[in-house]
Amino acid sequence: MESAEIARRFLRFFEERGHEVVPSASLIAEDPTLLLVNAGMVPFKPYFLGQRKPAHPRATSVQKCIRTPDIDEVGKTTRHGTFFQMLGNFSFGDYFKEQAIPFAWELLTRSEAEGGFGFPEDRLWATVYHDDDEAFRIWRDKVGLPEERIQRRGMADNFWSMGVPGPCGPCSEIYYDRGPEYGREGGPIADEDRYLEVWNLVFMQFERGPGSGKEDFPILGELPAKNIDTGMGLERMASILQGVDNIYEIDTMWRVLDRAADLTKTKYGRDARNDVSLRVVADHVRSGTMMVGDGVVPSNEGRGYVLRRILRRSIRNLRLLGAGDERYLHELTDAVIEGMGETYPSLRADAAHIHTVIDAEEQSFLATLRTGTAIFDASVEEAKRRKDTVVSGAQAFTLHDTYGFPIDLTLEMANEQGLSVDEAEFRRLMDEQRQRAKADAAAKKTGNLDVSVLGEMLERTGTVAFTGYDAVEAEARVV
Ligand code: ATP
Ligand code: MG
Ligand code: MG
Ligand code: MG
Repeated sequence: MESAEIARRFLRFFEERGHEVVPSASLIAEDPTLLLVNAGMVPFKPYFLGQRKPAHPRATSVQKCIRTPDIDEVGKTTRHGTFFQMLGNFSFGDYFKEQAIPFAWELLTRSEAEGGFGFPEDRLWATVYHDDDEAFRIWRDKVGLPEERIQRRGMADNFWSMGVPGPCGPCSEIYYDRGPEYGREGGPIADEDRYLEVWNLVFMQFERGPGSGKEDFPILGELPAKNIDTGMGLERMASILQGVDNIYEIDTMWRVLDRAADLTKTKYGRDARNDVSLRVVADHVRSGTMMVGDGVVPSNEGRGYVLRRILRRSIRNLRLLGAGDERYLHELTDAVIEGMGETYPSLRADAAHIHTVIDAEEQSFLATLRTGTAIFDASVEEAKRRKDTVVSGAQAFTLHDTYGFPIDLTLEMANEQGLSVDEAEFRRLMDEQRQRAKADAAAKKTGNLDVSVLGEMLERTGTVAFTGYDAVEAEARVV
């Protein structure tokens, strides 16, 4: 079953059950707490919070999503993309668990001939939040799922929030058993490769406050109503329904991966490291194309930096595949547009603009890579001569400061050589530079420098939902 057909079936099923079909919102989140939309519910957040009243109490959509925190999983697991599409059905204070669970079961197990996805019942497993006896009973008694295929999990897995303050609630996830050749028995709590999570049903009932991680935040109280928010991964469904091993081999992605293999004269399936690179390239070029299609341009802060990082990572993985000085993103972007253009016709209309933006980034980064790599290689040589396994913080700093090498790139390249980087020293030097810049700015304050601009920029980057190197980079560039 083609990806486009999976989406059509999902929407039709819920439209027939009284849901309004809502088109995907742009990846650029309207919500100021997020840089990029990371789930299907994001455009509906004000309805859940009771801040706005929806025109219709039920909705269904296919939402474009970007999840940068999953970037390191890409190509290594079978199921994580930085870009993916989330199919969802939503109830704004209308139906709740007792209807949402049977809806999901019906769509998954109904035969293909009757508009469903035709999953054999004995392949399906469900998880529930550890004390959610209600959801447990609905699965067991209303749906008839055998008790041994319903597992209870804690907050980290079965309590969903956007990662920022807002609506949240316990959830119930549905897993497809891909069979013993994919891993250990014992359900999703034992092995999430064999048991592939395809759908998450969130019982949006509470509001959370600020906090870090998946567990460390306060619950502020109940939402004005009990809601349903579900998210099914289109690419993961396609991998099952198309009988392929992972999401990078499905219809829309395969053509990008295959083109990358052709261009770099590599063969997919021969070498594990090359395969990871090919999957990273396929995923990242697709993400980059979709982001530029929605109006993001590469820059050194905020979502522009997310885009830059993704594009640069795809360029570097092409070099690892032996691309040399060639520029390949133009052709790969075409492959994305061919695969996604039916669902997102604006990609075809905007193709010229998308190419201009992506080609320019490729050109400038190739120049950076050429000089930076030479300096990096010299640092590695030096470290090895010293019989040291660490690239010094000063070298990482010079690479960053003089050659525009992002620290995550240095870390990744060092890692490939079996070396680590003195990150603490790198950060100390960055900090020192920041202090110097501040002192300079203060000295200039008597002149005409408008420091309010700096404040605004800091405020903007202060709302960034991603931490770690993104934050370091964003901050570094503000001063
Ligand atoms: P996982 O545990 O596999 O990382 P998740 O629990 O983080 O997934 P949810 O936040 O529940 O995912 O998102 C709802 C659905 O979206 C998932 O059930 C899955 O089908 C899909 N999904 C989530 N993250 C990704 C991703 N990075 N790439 C592709 N599909 C994804
Ligand atoms: Mg995840
Ligand atoms: Mg999960
Ligand atoms: Mg989940």
